[in-house]
Amino acid sequence: MIDTAVIWACPVCGGVWLNRSPQARRHRKYERDKGDPERTARRRERMRANQRRYTQRHPERQRKATRTWRARVQADRQRRLNYNGDQRMDYRLRAERPVSVVHVDGGYKGPGSACDRNLDAARLIGWLERTFGGWEHSAIARACRINERVVYQLLTAREPLVSLHVADSVLTGYGRPDLLNVLYPYDES
Ligand SMILES: [Zn+2]
Repeated sequence: MIDTAVIWACPVCGGVWLNRSPQARRHRKYERDKGDPERTARRRERMRANQRRYTQRHPERQRKATRTWRARVQADRQRRLNYNGDQRMDYRLRAERPVSVVHVDGGYKGPGSACDRNLDAARLIGWLERTFGGWEHSAIARACRINERVVYQLLTAREPLVSLHVADSVLTGYGRPDLLNVLYPYDES
C-alpha cells in the first residue's frame, strides 16, 4: 500500500513525486513558472545557457548525439520526409528575403531570384498596414504564412523595393493572390 504521507501529487498534472524530494520541489517550481510568461522566458534562457555550456564542455558527445539523431531521422521514412520538407522551407524563406538592390535596365541578370522583378514596396507596405494595423509582426507573419524577417524588412526596415516573388508569397499566403494584380497592375510596367 502507498503511504500517502510521503507522496505528493501535483494538482495541475496529476504527476506523483516523493514528498519533499528535490524532484518534487523542482516540479512545483516548474508548475509555478509555467503560468508566468516572464518566468517561462527566464527558464527557457537558463535551459539554453545550460545547453550551450554542455555543448562547449562535451563537443564530442554533442557530435555523437547529432550523428545518432540524424541516423534516426534517416531511418524513419516519415521523419526523413518532414526533415527534408523543413530544410526546403528554410531554403525558401532565406530565398524570399526582399531584394534591396535596384537592377540596371538591360544589365546582366543572373539566374534564380536575381531575375525577379523589383516592385515598389510602398504599395505592399500600405496594404499590410491597412490590413494588419496594430498587429504584432509574428501574428502578421502567421497570417500571411511568411517568415517574420520578411515582415520586419517591409514594416520596420521599410525596404523601398520588394521582389515580385516576395509580394506574391505574402498575398498568396494570406489567401488573396488576386490582390497582386490590384496592387501591381500588369500593364503599368
Ligand atoms: Zn504538474
